[in-house]
Amino acid sequence: MSFQNPVFIPGPTNIPEKLRKACDMPTIDHRSPLFGQMLHPARKGVQRVLKSRDAEVFFFPSSGTGGWETALTNTLSGGDKVLAARNGMFSHRWIDMCKRHGLDVQIVETPWGEGVPVDRYEEILAADKAHEIKAVLATHNETATGVKSDIAGVRRSLDAAGHPALLLVDGVSSIASMDFQFDDWRVDVAVTGSQKGFMLSAGLAIVGFSAKAMEATKSAKLPRSFFDIHDMANGYAASAFPYTPPVGLINGLNEACDMLLDEGLDNVFARHHRIAEGVRYAVKAWGLELCATSPDVYSDTVSAILTPDGFNATDIVTHAADTYGVAFGVGLGEVAGKVFRIGHLGSLTDVMTLSGIATAEMCMADLGLDVRLGSGVAAAQEYFRSNPAADLCKAA
Ligand SMILES: *Cc1c(COP(=O)(O)O)cnc(C)c1O
Repeated sequence: MSFQNPVFIPGPTNIPEKLRKACDMPTIDHRSPLFGQMLHPARKGVQRVLKSRDAEVFFFPSSGTGGWETALTNTLSGGDKVLAARNGMFSHRWIDMCKRHGLDVQIVETPWGEGVPVDRYEEILAADKAHEIKAVLATHNETATGVKSDIAGVRRSLDAAGHPALLLVDGVSSIASMDFQFDDWRVDVAVTGSQKGFMLSAGLAIVGFSAKAMEATKSAKLPRSFFDIHDMANGYAASAFPYTPPVGLINGLNEACDMLLDEGLDNVFARHHRIAEGVRYAVKAWGLELCATSPDVYSDTVSAILTPDGFNATDIVTHAADTYGVAFGVGLGEVAGKVFRIGHLGSLTDVMTLSGIATAEMCMADLGLDVRLGSGVAAAQEYFRSNPAADLCKAA
């Protein structure tokens, strides 16, 4: 593997030089006021990235998975019923975590390649007259299949059924890359991590809690200690953590929020969309299909690309690493061997993306697939030329 090539995996993502420097700090006393000068602006920055006025933002030294656990254990009690769709490896893992915590999960099995079935959610919620369902889970962007779900639609399904369940959203591979509207969608808990849209290394679980979710924490009985948000909130009140914080990462996160907000969230989302479209034009030129079944669910952060029957898609990933020192993502779970993934989120430009498309083409040609060298690159070039970046000086 090369340290010079960008990675094209859907997290961890490429770290801009500025953020690497921000994380590389001398030791400070994390109980001194200096820490508060990073912590509080970072919380405020994340709140703005979530498009929220007053979500309570918490950071845990963990990864996105710890964020899932924070969401569940702080708002629910053993035996509580939750509703969740399984449409890929990440939604599957969150469901598995629910079961391990003794929650009663009503699973809506959904084809891998489709989004959260909003109509089905609405039927189930409307039928739950006794309001036994305490939380509705939704994976905003299923990283395994490159599928985006309609969180505004999930909120509408709750509202249409007049259902009071909490809305818990996994935004690990969408937040800071794709539009996420915490307040307008009335999300109760949003979960993400430092190593995807925030362009940092792994190490922070980042969560936002609504006032309603904060209220639910008071009666939630699931055991929690490390991930207890009341301990964390008490720490923050003294500009500290209940334990030793990863200071460099929090400083980096503060800087990452500044970068994203300086570029402008709309520009960040437009950049991700443009780059994703370039990749999609390339896929089309190769004569291949996405795992995502329709344009309304196409993800702007990752594309899972189906390879022809009888071909092991994982070979592309292995070959790219061995031969060209470039990382793509393998297929996970049900789609293992059937898809390879191009991650296109975080610190990425058109030019970097073209290099990833060119590498994928070389790999497919080397492995005997009927792909003409330059075909995908040309398709993406044509698209990028006719849809130039908004403001290159600001792009991350
Ligand atoms: C990456 C990812 C996770 C898991 O996050 P970790 O940081 O690896 O624990 C969860 N959900 C989605 C959608 C992801 O993309």
